[in-house]
Amino acid sequence: MIGGGLAGIAAAETAARQGRQPVIFERASVLGGRAASLPEPVRKVWIDNGQHLLLGCCTEMLALNRRLGLDRFFQQTDTLPFYNVQNQCWNLSASRLLPVSLQFLPALLTMPFLPFSERLKTGYLLQKLVKEDFFRANLPAKTVADWLRQHWVPQKTRDSFWDPLILSALSETADHTAAAALQKVVRDVFFAGRGGMTLHLPIVPLREIYHDAVLNPLTKLGISFRFFKRLRRLHWEKKNSAVEITAVEFSDGSTEQFDDYVFAVPAFALWKVLNDSGLSDTAERLGLNRFEPGSISTVHLWLDRPLLNGRKCGVLLGGDGQFLCCCKESDHYYTVVVSASHRILPDAEMTASGSRMLVERILEQLRAVFGCSPLRAVHARVTVRFDAVFSPGISVFANRERFDVPVGRLFSNAGIAGDWVLPDYPATLESAVRSGNLAGKDRF
Ligand SMILES: Cc1cc2nc3c(=O)[nH]c(=O)nc-3n(C[C@H](O)[C@H](O)[C@H](O)COP(=O)(O)OP(=O)(O)OC[C@H]3O[C@@H](n4cnc5c(N)ncnc54)[C@H](O)[C@@H]3O)c2cc1C
Repeated sequence: MIGGGLAGIAAAETAARQGRQPVIFERASVLGGRAASLPEPVRKVWIDNGQHLLLGCCTEMLALNRRLGLDRFFQQTDTLPFYNVQNQCWNLSASRLLPVSLQFLPALLTMPFLPFSERLKTGYLLQKLVKEDFFRANLPAKTVADWLRQHWVPQKTRDSFWDPLILSALSETADHTAAAALQKVVRDVFFAGRGGMTLHLPIVPLREIYHDAVLNPLTKLGISFRFFKRLRRLHWEKKNSAVEITAVEFSDGSTEQFDDYVFAVPAFALWKVLNDSGLSDTAERLGLNRFEPGSISTVHLWLDRPLLNGRKCGVLLGGDGQFLCCCKESDHYYTVVVSASHRILPDAEMTASGSRMLVERILEQLRAVFGCSPLRAVHARVTVRFDAVFSPGISVFANRERFDVPVGRLFSNAGIAGDWVLPDYPATLESAVRSGNLAGKDRF
């Protein structure tokens, strides 16, 4: 197993439960991959590289958490408050009395930010979106912006509902998001069943969950770990016109041989390894160059007063940040997620001065939303991941079949896993775990 993110953990766990003894090779010193924490030297605490939310529709990820005893690190809430700069608050929650297809309609009809006709239309469009066939042959693929324009959605409705939804769920703007990607999110969150929108928020740093707390249960399953092992090259030979991996070579010069392999690394990392191994035709067949990174920045704020009135989180409207989370109430420690942060600051400008500017803009937004001026940050820090997700554009979501190889059989004795692998899914913990489960099952 190469890669110790959630995809690699899931693949190893599945394989181990089938009686195998997988070894995870990870280039970093910890498991968890992008679900990571870093030290905050001023406050002397671990902070996450970004707020990681799980929704009730992330069924395989939640099941993995339960199997590994990690569900104790999460707090649940069924209501998601939205706040706008006019100081209005709206609670999005599901009705338990209505059928699943209508469960969000009562909440939508009470949304104060929009006229009643727009609320009704939003409910109707959500239903329509999930029934569209975006994969019909001979039709050009649509972006979400195309689809919203086609349905005459006014800018105010986009600002109050659609754009925050697209940014929070897919970390991309409507112009660069395939309509099929948003359809998948809306179907899973709003229509697939009850509890799809239940939020599961981590209550300790991610490192304590996906590294410290998983080592023991995974070890008990017979899984072992090698850290600081970066895969550099594959050794291979052709057998009956199929490629068979004969060994994996690491950047420290060591090589290892196994019967089976799963490469659970991000698309760009696999692209590099395949090219360096003389397998660029495979990288091309997988279309790895179609995956473009999408950035997420997180503004960490230690404020001079509490916000949110005891609530854990909320969606912010009308500014740069989309999601506010209370990480430690007693310290007034909050995070604000800025999805697709390249739209605000080009990557090259994410420097100290860029960070300061972002902190100021977010504080301004919080002052407007919560009507508290002056609101001061006792301490602030910005974390940026340029490659947090892949951009869910139409080049990736144009076809239902993303690859012409089954997940488990990239080569005769090797499979792939990762949040980019499953054709219908955007980059999430759920897609990472699902692909890992499949690769672990298929491969072993
Ligand atoms: C700031 C931020 C916020 C996010 N928010 C959410 C959220 O709220 N909800 C959600 O569902 N998802 C969220 N995500 C996305 C989620 O973190 C990823 O989709 C998921 O963690 C991907 O898991 P993975 O195992 O596929 O890849 P990774 O986590 O990237 O794991 C791959 C592993 O492979 C290792 N590796 C890479 N190259 C090599 C090599 N050559 N040799 C050996 N090892 C290698 C890496 O070190 C890494 O540990 C967020 C991501 C970020 C960065």
